Amino acid sequence: MTLADNLERADAFLAPFRDRPILNHIGGQDCPARSGATFESVSPIDMARVATVARGDAADIDDAARAASDAFPAWRDMDGAARRAILHRIADGIVARAEEIALLECIDTGQALRFMSKAALRGADNFRFFADKAPYARDGQSLHAANQLNVTSRRPIGPVGVITPWNTPFMLSTWKIAPALAAGCTVVHKPAELSPVTARILMDIAAEAGLPPGVWNLVNGVGEEAGRALTEHPAIKAIAFVGESATGKLIMRQGADTLKRVHFELGGKNPVVVFADADLERAADAAAFMIWSLNGERCTSSSRVLVESSIHDDFVAVLADKARHLKVGHPLDPDTVVGPLIHPDHEAKVLSYFDVARAEGVTIAAGGEKVMGGEFAAGCYVAPTLFTGASQTMRVAREEIFGPVLTAIPFDNEDEALGLANDVAYGLAGYLWTNDVTRALRFSDGMDAGMIWVNSENVRHLPTPFGGTKESGIGRDGGDWSFDFYMETRNVAFATVPRNVPKLGL
Ligand code: NAD
Repeated sequence: MTLADNLERADAFLAPFRDRPILNHIGGQDCPARSGATFESVSPIDMARVATVARGDAADIDDAARAASDAFPAWRDMDGAARRAILHRIADGIVARAEEIALLECIDTGQALRFMSKAALRGADNFRFFADKAPYARDGQSLHAANQLNVTSRRPIGPVGVITPWNTPFMLSTWKIAPALAAGCTVVHKPAELSPVTARILMDIAAEAGLPPGVWNLVNGVGEEAGRALTEHPAIKAIAFVGESATGKLIMRQGADTLKRVHFELGGKNPVVVFADADLERAADAAAFMIWSLNGERCTSSSRVLVESSIHDDFVAVLADKARHLKVGHPLDPDTVVGPLIHPDHEAKVLSYFDVARAEGVTIAAGGEKVMGGEFAAGCYVAPTLFTGASQTMRVAREEIFGPVLTAIPFDNEDEALGLANDVAYGLAGYLWTNDVTRALRFSDGMDAGMIWVNSENVRHLPTPFGGTKESGIGRDGGDWSFDFYMETRNVAFATVPRNVPKLGL
């Protein structure tokens, strides 16, 4: 497929969104916002309108929370095998529309198709994985004491809110919603206002798969209105949130009055630590992949590369060369690696770090500028960038930039490297490259991050836990960990031996 082919296909898929607004979906019905308000979603490729979207607020969230509450008992009590069948049908629907989802996600977010085509299928995998766990989600254990048999089991917590970001919106929506439904929870989903298109497709797929009305509701809107109302609604028992750490802090405050259970997947400033004894070619490929794929708009991106001094200059030269030769371009061009960033405001934030870098005295070894002119004129294109000569005290080494920007820092020994790796507010992911197995064990044990990959880029295995420490999050997803969040664990203690109960009074 060429760019022209992809544009033609995307245009056909976009047509329905041009003609009618994206509506909310509440209690099995498509509906505009009660206020009638709408907002526009634009493409960062050229700022053209992608869709007009219902702008839900507290009133719509209230409708959706009520619908989710009404639907909860029947969904909770449905046989797990029946829930499994419905979730597999949703996965089938995703596979059937994977091309449409991929193309429209690229138009809506600016992410390159070479990465997004897999994201749609990964969404289907998420549904299949949790579908197969649905019949066993309630399982617990029995704990024997001398006079007692304890039976523990789990119950779905109730209606939950899911709030997702714009960077890989389709995959992340499936990642949060599939386990909630498998557990027996009902859902109100508030997608990111900057990329709402594929959440609507996912909702359609779910409705067509036979999901009962009210089990999954979609309310579009902006964070301060619909998002906030969802976190404050008393009928919503828990909030699964993916987004910025600052927003997570707000949500915790907003949810305090209703004692909301929260699960946060937040920001990161993830180190890739490269020792001289590593397979340096693979390490360089992995470091490049983890910061310049998905536009660097990726929570697990390797935004800092810590390199042992003896190989530092050669290693960063290789990275700079890679950065200079990556294709920046239209996201639907099959050769494109880096597409436009999500929005002019986000682009401005990323570009502002080039001024920060200059002020901090960092060397801009590659990129460091907006890509302008010609096909790039109207879009949010930023060149793949490498900063060298940085130190860990600098803002470019400490703050999440969330763009195609990598900061390199040299180190002399293992202790120093570990100190640098951990010296940030975040603790989402870490990457370690060494062929010394003892060092790999020791160093990974010392890294303060929720997920560490040794001699690998980020390769997910769905049964493993996903999540971060420090300001990168609260809680874990994946495997059974997702059910720890979406379910209440309860214990019933049976007396097995008739023993005297302490008598009070007579
Ligand atoms: P964001 O926090 O601005 O927005 C995320 C969502 O929260 C959006 O739907 C938004 O409308 C909503 N929101 C905003 N204010 C709110 C409020 N007061 N109450 C309730 N909801 C509100 O994040 P973003 O810019 O969309 O996404 C980028 C961020 O997400 C980055 O920091 C990135 O690291 C993080 N992220 C983390 C992970 C992870 O797994 N740890 C994955 C992807 C993205």
